[in-house]
Amino acid sequence: MDERFILKVEDLTVSFDGFKAVDHLSFYVEPNECRVIIGPNGAGKTTVLDLICGRTKATEGSVVFKGKELLAMREDQIVHAGVGRKFQTPSVYEDLTVFENLELSYPKGHGVFGALAFKRDETVRARIKEIAQTIFLDGQLDEKAAFLSHGQKQWLEIGMLLIQDPELLMLDEPVAGMSVAERKKTAELLNRIIQDRSVIVIEHDMGFVADIATRVTVLHQGKTLSEGTMDRVQNDPKVVEVYLGH
Ligand code: ADP
Ligand code: MG
Repeated sequence: MDERFILKVEDLTVSFDGFKAVDHLSFYVEPNECRVIIGPNGAGKTTVLDLICGRTKATEGSVVFKGKELLAMREDQIVHAGVGRKFQTPSVYEDLTVFENLELSYPKGHGVFGALAFKRDETVRARIKEIAQTIFLDGQLDEKAAFLSHGQKQWLEIGMLLIQDPELLMLDEPVAGMSVAERKKTAELLNRIIQDRSVIVIEHDMGFVADIATRVTVLHQGKTLSEGTMDRVQNDPKVVEVYLGH
């Protein structure tokens, strides 16, 4: 196994009634990398994440995560293997507090009783506090999610994934609808969490991309149009023509 990459996507293809939304796509993600996928609407960005997390079945190709072929696995098995995925719209439980939302997402262990259960509660509580701090919500633990701002809900959902400690976290347009200040904080959050994992982010805001990206993959019609550092990709004439120029 090639240890340099935590994720190897090769020849990934999905065809919807003959239309190839993702077309023989290959890319490789290193540990502690933040890979940003950019590209015009309909390029296939969300579909790539759907394929990696098992929500959509690939027609061809392979997705190897830590040596395991994900395309042969069910969605829940892929989560269990250490891949977390956030969708575009936040899906937190509005009637529950920040604490309760995080608690619900804590990985379920085997049933424990008595003194052991007490010890587990302590561990869970400490972990929830730690995550709440990471997502800038340690002051809101007892607040119902319904009262959070849109940006805070997005952070809470990231926290609900982080508490499961995924080694690969995938985020679909996490700063859409956020204020400039919230975007800056989200960039800070991502830069902190890649110290322990890899992240794949789909994003349009190029300022935000510049703040977070290790490397950028530009997707166009289901294929890689360009790939490399932000600088390289931004100055690639093909990218300017089909994406950034508009
Ligand atoms: P992006 O996220 O880059 O905007 P998507 O991955 O959502 O693009 O979509 C890529 C293309 O695939 C679009 O033309 C979309 O209509 C099509 N598509 C996505 N999912 C399906 C599906 N389940 N069935 C049919 N077509 C789909
Ligand atoms: Mg999309």
